[in-house]
Amino acid sequence: MKLIDGKKIADEIKTEMAIEVRKMIDAGQRVPHLAAVLVGEDPASQTYVAHKEKACKEVGFTSSLYRYPESMSEKDLLEAVEFLNRDDEVDGFIVQLPLPKHISPEKIIKAINPKKDVDGFHPMNIGNMVLNLPAYISATPYGILQLMKHSGIETEGKNCVVAGRSNIVGTPLSILLSRNNKDANCTVTLCHSKTKNLKEVCAGADILIVAMGQLEFIKADMVKEGAVVIDVGMHRVPSTETKSGFRLKGDVAFDEVSKKCSMITPVPGGVGLMTVVALLMNTMKAAKNEIYG
Ligand code: NAP
Repeated sequence: MKLIDGKKIADEIKTEMAIEVRKMIDAGQRVPHLAAVLVGEDPASQTYVAHKEKACKEVGFTSSLYRYPESMSEKDLLEAVEFLNRDDEVDGFIVQLPLPKHISPEKIIKAINPKKDVDGFHPMNIGNMVLNLPAYISATPYGILQLMKHSGIETEGKNCVVAGRSNIVGTPLSILLSRNNKDANCTVTLCHSKTKNLKEVCAGADILIVAMGQLEFIKADMVKEGAVVIDVGMHRVPSTETKSGFRLKGDVAFDEVSKKCSMITPVPGGVGLMTVVALLMNTMKAAKNEIYG
């Protein structure tokens, strides 16, 4: 079994990006600028945003964080989005989800200028992605594609099962992996909570990608011998062994599944790190006007 080292791949991409930023500075250009909007005090969201800020610093991007209280109104958040849409110094920005219950995430996402939508959640970017036109691809699927490409995972003619059909992970990933291109040319089955015989379907996969949000749901008997397993799940599990008081685990029962597959992503150290890198890649594209000219 080979561990897919998300940290190593993420570091390699970040090193290349830092070189590119250095060249931009030498050419007298402004460095890419990623802004993040954080509403409320959700601990996981605060951690994700902190990781994004740290990654920006590592590659030399400018980052800015707009923090607002949980009580912020939808109208005020729409104004904050509009402010960032108009700020020429900001190349791309994200509104960290989830939002407080009184704010519609759909309304907020639709208000983001698609040209600055580096999270790739705007309907225009999703639509372009489906049509195989230039688009910002949402960070987690984009990061997984990078992870697969850099790990040399063969996709042509392979049976891929994606477990979980969320708008931000499973559904876009299922579309991207069934493209007619070198790095993503699978026959894809998309599973969800109404799928019959999930165990058998998963056990038929050459490549199994799990984004279910169910702690260690995928056991060894659901995985084919020699399969590639990508675990998107992220769960904070209480732990007395860490300073933070918790440790991260995935949707896959790593200890038993890793004995059976040919390649697997660990949690942490797999998909999560690549998600942040993919966001940086999208921000670089925004700074260079690569998607929408
Ligand atoms: P989500 O919106 O909760 O969707 C979960 C999907 O899994 C749904 O499609 C659901 O089916 C399906 N599902 C749930 N239980 C199932 C079961 N018992 N059998 C079959 N299907 C089942 O999830 P998400 O936002 O995609 O996130 C999934 C996981 O990835 C979470 O742990 C999340 O924290 C993690 N995540 C990680 C990253 C990262 O950067 N590493 C990024 C995003 C998410 P239905 O549609 O029928 O309900």
